[in-house]
Amino acid sequence: MKSQITDFCSWHPLTGALYHCPECDSELCEHCVDDRQYQNGGELVCGNCGSHILYAGVPVDVEPFWRRIDKSFRYPLRLPVLLLLIVSAVITEILRSYSPVLQGLGSVLLAAVFFKYWFTCLTDTAQGEMEAPPVLSAFSGSMSLFFRLILLFVAFGAAYGGLAALAAPYHELVSALIVLIVPACLINFGMTDRFTAALNPWMAIKLITRLGLQYWLLLGLILVMYGSVEFLSGLLQEQQTLFMPLADFISNYYMMVLFHLMGYMIYQNQRVLGIAGTIEPSFDLQRTNRQLQMDRLRILLLSARWQDADRLLGQLLGELPGDPELQNLRYRLLLGTLPGKLLEAKQQKITLPLQEAQQILDQYLLFTGSRAVEQMLSPHKDILAIWASYLPASGKLRLMLAHGWFQQGDFKRALALLNGFHKLKASKSSVLEAYHLMQQVLHNMPGMERQAQQCHRFIQQLSAMQGTTGSAR
Ligand SMILES: [Zn+2]
Ligand SMILES: [Zn+2]
Repeated sequence: MKSQITDFCSWHPLTGALYHCPECDSELCEHCVDDRQYQNGGELVCGNCGSHILYAGVPVDVEPFWRRIDKSFRYPLRLPVLLLLIVSAVITEILRSYSPVLQGLGSVLLAAVFFKYWFTCLTDTAQGEMEAPPVLSAFSGSMSLFFRLILLFVAFGAAYGGLAALAAPYHELVSALIVLIVPACLINFGMTDRFTAALNPWMAIKLITRLGLQYWLLLGLILVMYGSVEFLSGLLQEQQTLFMPLADFISNYYMMVLFHLMGYMIYQNQRVLGIAGTIEPSFDLQRTNRQLQMDRLRILLLSARWQDADRLLGQLLGELPGDPELQNLRYRLLLGTLPGKLLEAKQQKITLPLQEAQQILDQYLLFTGSRAVEQMLSPHKDILAIWASYLPASGKLRLMLAHGWFQQGDFKRALALLNGFHKLKASKSSVLEAYHLMQQVLHNMPGMERQAQQCHRFIQQLSAMQGTTGSAR
């Protein structure tokens, strides 16, 4: 097991991590897990490198146990549970008036029921279940847990007796030690379900040191609970008939709270206790394929794998060409890598990557322009800031942009887009439209009178040519 686990997703720094990938050493939240194979009965894999991942335990945003103390006292407050507590207190009271044999037998049976229930509270909570288990669970299953618990308490008793005999003058110290260690032994038993683990004092000490302050808080709480039962007994000393059932009720109630709290300590401290990954909840993040791919894309972008990201984006846009988020991402990605591409092209005199870049940029501008022409001007300006000589390949796009800039009063930009328009493979009508626009642009620019006249002549030639081709048809 990894000793240092950072608690936050490597790709979402504000989200608690649920999985750890030993291969690429990253922490993953559920969004960063690839569950495509898992959905078909396979494994969950790392969204970053595709390797097998380990469940890393509860996320860090789990409430600390001391903030849950009030909730823990409400934990047994469910009608069936309260009925169980009342009925058992009444039965115990009735049995008290009968023979000691019957009373002994009755209390053993009730203890079996409660032991079973308390441990279910502990193990259920340890797995993240914050509702009290159904009362029926106390009556179902085997008795083996009960016998093992009895054995455990016999062993505690024997240890206590032995120690007390050995260190007779320090009788009280021994009792204190036993009280201190018993909750740890119970937690170990609940965690491992092994008798040996529960009885191993070394394991108990290890648990206590690992839980640190939390464990002492739990002990403090036990003392407070014990004190409150004692206090009650002092109050009701004269009324034994009332006190006994009430004390039974309260102490059984307290035990449920305590076992729930002990379970919660396991749940909250899975990593510290080194049992993270043993309690793995099922993965049920409902994502569409697009959402899953977007999550994958996010990792690729954050880990600066531009080429992979670009490939995935291209693939996704093939499936969903009109997706604005995808279009925008590919544009941003390209803009980010454009300076590098320009430098590469300059150094190696290769224009192919630039052609690709031009295609993508054209596509993006057309995409934004399809919604409103003004919307394409700002990205066009951003592109020009990085790639000054960018000129769209498509005549349609150049015309759209030129109209846009003309309306904005940016005649230079409009002119640059219209220059040499007749060399493009564009329809005659759009060439005409382009030069009409160019004439208007030139009229608005001081000192361009001569060019405007040239443009006018060119338009006349074009119209004449169109006229002849038109009449030839
Ligand atoms: Zn994440
Ligand atoms: Zn990985």
